[in-house]
Amino acid sequence: MRILVTGGAGYIGSHTCLELLNSGHQVVVVDNLSNSSVEALKRVEQLTGQSIKFYQADIRDEKALSAIFAAEKVDAVIHFAGSKAVGESVAKPLFYYENNVSASGLLMQVMLQHQVKTLVFSSSATVYGEPVSSPIREDFAVHPESPYGRSKLMVEQIMSDLVVAQPDFSAISLRYFNPVGAHESGLIGEDPNGIPNNLMPFINQVAIGRRPYLSVFGDDYDTPDGTGVRDYIHVCDLASGHVKALETLHQNAGFHVFNLGTGQGVSVLEMVDAYRRISGQLIAYQVAPRRPGDIACYYGDPSLAAEKLGWKAERGLDQMVADSWKWQKLNPHGYTRRS
Ligand code: NAD
Ligand code: UDP
Repeated sequence: MRILVTGGAGYIGSHTCLELLNSGHQVVVVDNLSNSSVEALKRVEQLTGQSIKFYQADIRDEKALSAIFAAEKVDAVIHFAGSKAVGESVAKPLFYYENNVSASGLLMQVMLQHQVKTLVFSSSATVYGEPVSSPIREDFAVHPESPYGRSKLMVEQIMSDLVVAQPDFSAISLRYFNPVGAHESGLIGEDPNGIPNNLMPFINQVAIGRRPYLSVFGDDYDTPDGTGVRDYIHVCDLASGHVKALETLHQNAGFHVFNLGTGQGVSVLEMVDAYRRISGQLIAYQVAPRRPGDIACYYGDPSLAAEKLGWKAERGLDQMVADSWKWQKLNPHGYTRRS
């Protein structure tokens, strides 16, 4: 298939482009490079020996988007483009609703104008909000607690309404748990802008000496060691989930939602220990107050994706850490698009 990947130069998008090419698909990327570097796509080309058609464009630009669809005749879209920082979404809600919700609506409109009726969307486990328990299943109640989370849920609702109006439209929303790691080559990985918000990129920067220590946000939660528990998933497993979703969509019309996670909870201190053991680096940390809004324990039940998509995460914690560290060591300043 010929696939349009929005946000394909980003962290998850670049790994998915690689997986798509390795699975025999052709890839067209549209990305405005607001949070990424075109170097990621060059490296995907280097790793696969195949080329990617790249458009530097904003998906909010209807004219540009329409011209890309007219020129490329794609079969399906995987939609990663958007903004993803929870804190920023609280400060700039209108921007998040524009860049995540309005832009996605526009994308679907342009898809229909060009008779493209297959869509895979990047959602987030954050749509569940505080769950009654973990593991979290897809049929649990959704009550996102930030504009970011609400923007993801709104797009899911638009997709769900669209398939009612257009019964030949097929849409899958993938609710990711915590993506970490990098391709095993160490050539592509996560390149956060500024001070990382997330645990793994922060540990990466402590390990490489860019930051003196990790603040562990709370050690008095009701979890085995008192620190927060999450469902970390290797980005390459996440990427293969998209390819499976895409290949299934052609057989299944309608709107479907799947969790992508491992189903295993890992605490902050377990992650620090694994990183120390595998990298051989000292990961200094200090216990700090709880981060507002954090939930003690959050992990998914991935069995629906196993049953319906034939997908399962294959890489464990040690590989997540080893691949993150390799990426960080080979690229201490990321793709060096910024200082
Ligand atoms: P990322 O920032 O690395 O990738 C997003 C890409 O979209 C970037 O390359 C950015 O330049 C591009 N982009 C943003 N707005 C655009 C626009 N208007 N037009 C064109 N391109 C635009 O983020 P990521 O971690 O790869 O996340 C990809 C998707 O997955 C996002 O939608 C995010 O919300 C979702 N997601 C991410 C996580 C995570 O922890 N990384 C978890 C759950 C869901
Ligand atoms: N965390 C931490 N220090 C950091 C960043 C995160 O202790 O510098 C903890 C956080 O409190 C949570 C876990 O690590 O328990 C995962 O946080 P992250 O922001 O990566 O993911 P999210 O909370 O959005 O699932």
